[in-house]
Amino acid sequence: MNKRTVRDLSSDEIKGKRAIVRADFNVPLDDNGEITDDTRIRAALPTLRLLLDRGARPIVLSHLGRPKGKPEQKFSLQPVGKRLEKLIGKKVNFVETTDTDEAMQAAATLADDEILLLENTRFLGGEETNDPRLSRALASLGDLFVNDAFGTAHRAHASTEGISEFLKPAVAGLLMERELDYLGKALEGAEKPFVAILGGSKISGKIDVIEALLPKVDGLLVGGAMACTFYRAMGLETGKSLVEDDKVQLAADLLEKWGTRITLPHDAMVAPGRERPEAAHAVHRDAIPAGEAMLDIGPRTSESFGRAIASARTILWNGPMGVFETPPFDKGTSAIATAMASATNHGATTIVGGGDSAAAVAQAGLADKMSHVSTGGGASLEFLEGKPLPGVEALDDRR
Ligand code: ADP
Ligand code: MG
Repeated sequence: MNKRTVRDLSSDEIKGKRAIVRADFNVPLDDNGEITDDTRIRAALPTLRLLLDRGARPIVLSHLGRPKGKPEQKFSLQPVGKRLEKLIGKKVNFVETTDTDEAMQAAATLADDEILLLENTRFLGGEETNDPRLSRALASLGDLFVNDAFGTAHRAHASTEGISEFLKPAVAGLLMERELDYLGKALEGAEKPFVAILGGSKISGKIDVIEALLPKVDGLLVGGAMACTFYRAMGLETGKSLVEDDKVQLAADLLEKWGTRITLPHDAMVAPGRERPEAAHAVHRDAIPAGEAMLDIGPRTSESFGRAIASARTILWNGPMGVFETPPFDKGTSAIATAMASATNHGATTIVGGGDSAAAVAQAGLADKMSHVSTGGGASLEFLEGKPLPGVEALDDRR
């Protein structure tokens, strides 16, 4: 990576310094405001621990949910502060504001070996508009900036991009570094054979990823509803399956140009609808009934995709193979997760990107069996498309 990271900081740059850490604590909450998945909080711990160990005082900024530039109690970071305190075993001071005298005061008096968490950055009008006045105010809270919020790196906001202009050094955190290292492998220098698996509901959101990956991979395995748009391009009956009519031509063009690299499912799990799981049955891809929808890849496809995964050295996966939220349509997705876990075991590099894909891997209990599960859905897609991430671009270059 060509950006400085928190590991590159000299002791002069870090000891006794107040480090503004932009984390991505955008965790899911239930109706009672309880955190239902703390993966993103755990993912930030290595950077916070490193800073504390090296004598810095972390002042943490994050957004949560989509408040529209003003305070909304249900998006308060207070519960996140409590969970963070439990997970890291250090005192976490929480201040209910972000750019006020109170926050300044708390930052200035923060004790050694303690953390300060400020309130949701999206409670501030200038955050999403990247207002330089806000960036400057946030910068004045600390002595250096550490961006560890990979999940928000594709947005140029005051606390992710703008602040780097006013506060140096501005470096990547350990999570950011890890994400860029693993996803970067998919764009250059992947050990071959390199296989990508794409699924999910729509081609439209993933065209740029498909086009960026095709020249680099040895094989692209397609599942999910996306496969049905390709089927339509091949002239197959797709019944009630989710097909994007305006993308059929694009699918045909991709098959024409890259047909030998693209593998579509040979068979499908179909049913009259996702509310009829008991009616699920497997059919060959040229026998999808007109009154039914493809809701998962079929068992023969799971096997052949599994063999392709087993013979690869690098495997990148984005997008579930079926409606994994509703069993038995989770089978294809679980089969891919299992095949990838076994590939990791045999020394292959396995990378999972995408919010639903990460959830599916966690649901299968296999998250820790992958080389890397990205914490950023949209950010990982934009990175794989080859787009620069503003939150990364703004950091200091490695000398
Ligand atoms: P990710 O978040 O991993 O990038 P997407 O958001 O693109 O994945 O896609 C996930 C969604 O795709 C899931 O909600 C899943 O139900 C849906 N999906 C997968 N296969 C099908 C299918 N055959 N028909 C309808 N929806 C599907
Ligand atoms: Mg999704």
